[in-house]
Amino acid sequence: MKFERSKQLFEEAKKYLVGGVNSPVRAFKSVGGEPIFIKKGKGSRIWDEDNNEYIDYVLSWGPLILGHANEQIVNAIKQISNFGTSFGAPTELEIEMAKAVVDAVKSVEMVRFVSSGTEATMSAIRLARGYTKRKKIIKFDGCYHGHGDSLLVSAGSGVATLGIPGTPGIPEELASLTIVLPYNNIDAVKEAFEKYGEDIACVIIEPVAGNMGVVAPSKEYHQELREITKKYGALLIWDEVMTGFRLAYGGAQELYGIEPDITTFGKVIGGGLPVGAYGGKREIMEYVAPVGPVYQAGTLSGNPLAMAAGLKQLQILKEKNPYPSLDEKGKILEDGINSLIQKYDIKARVNRVGSMITLFFTDKDVVDFETAKSSDTELFGRFFRKMLQLGVYLPPSQFEAAFLSDAHSKEDINETLNKIEEAFRYLKK
Ligand SMILES: *Cc1c(COP(=O)(O)O)cnc(C)c1O
Repeated sequence: MKFERSKQLFEEAKKYLVGGVNSPVRAFKSVGGEPIFIKKGKGSRIWDEDNNEYIDYVLSWGPLILGHANEQIVNAIKQISNFGTSFGAPTELEIEMAKAVVDAVKSVEMVRFVSSGTEATMSAIRLARGYTKRKKIIKFDGCYHGHGDSLLVSAGSGVATLGIPGTPGIPEELASLTIVLPYNNIDAVKEAFEKYGEDIACVIIEPVAGNMGVVAPSKEYHQELREITKKYGALLIWDEVMTGFRLAYGGAQELYGIEPDITTFGKVIGGGLPVGAYGGKREIMEYVAPVGPVYQAGTLSGNPLAMAAGLKQLQILKEKNPYPSLDEKGKILEDGINSLIQKYDIKARVNRVGSMITLFFTDKDVVDFETAKSSDTELFGRFFRKMLQLGVYLPPSQFEAAFLSDAHSKEDINETLNKIEEAFRYLKK
């Protein structure tokens, strides 16, 4: 495989775009090598500018649960764009889209659409603070909730450690309001509430983590988190930007049977166009302007093209119910990788929930960010680059989830397993 044109484009891109990209992970920094430039996609496949073909497990980082260039979604966008692209005024499509979300997700009675997952979580935190009139928030180490200031904080895994900024540009005064706790550890949460309970506005969590690689907590953990937040009058925010409409039509909350106070969405909900959303019980959502005092607005919020793409994707998902088949294909992939791990004696673990899967190069069970970080990232980099050469496009980081789509066939999975076997043989040489 040759990457000449991608190389040329990357050199050109770096002159005008910071690092040649518009989102850092795309630069391939943590896996070595240089990014490939994508020309087109169809179904489970993408092609780069050198006309190399790949089976794609990134799927635009999750949105494309029906695969690339789904005909019905593309047609919905084409059709609606004939009538104009944006009005900044109410449209009927927004009601339909809101009804689809309310109908799908039990805990959501009202919703506000925004244009990204970051915007959704940022707004949800503001709403939680406005509603409870409290300042502190709890987030978990290794969970990513977009790049809003209050959420870009990591303080290691110390119990109830007050936050320090994870990046320059975030004032310590703000970061100190974010308490970072280890994921999957209910005692840490109890301790934090005993100490700061009356000041905690909300707990925000990825109900199944995808942004440290896939890590799934137990049902009991989520039940205890629900109870303790209720007890202290703090809101529970489930960030379902990744899991919403992916793990089940009703999101992770359908799987776990938990009702959070606020839920955030993005990715799948937009059908490949920029859509985010936050929603919850009417009583809480009516704290948002124009009904309530918490301000939040957006020039392109509820954009007709984005609503049309998202609504079409949700309609197809509801009608087709691809979730059992996604899980089945996920299991074939998981089982296949596990037997290859045994056969080639690779130090690795597979974590999977439905169509989200991560191969960690560690011999520890991965239950939180600490254990995820025990992975051999150098080995992952070599594996990633080999798989790219073999025509399989994986997320370019050890700490990300790979995704399956409805367009991935069992043949795709088998082909992928053959290539993983080839890559494992290469790693063992
Ligand atoms: C991707 C992601 C976000 C951020 O969404 P953007 O659309 O990239 O701003 C927030 N939370 C979770 C759980 C995500 O996976």
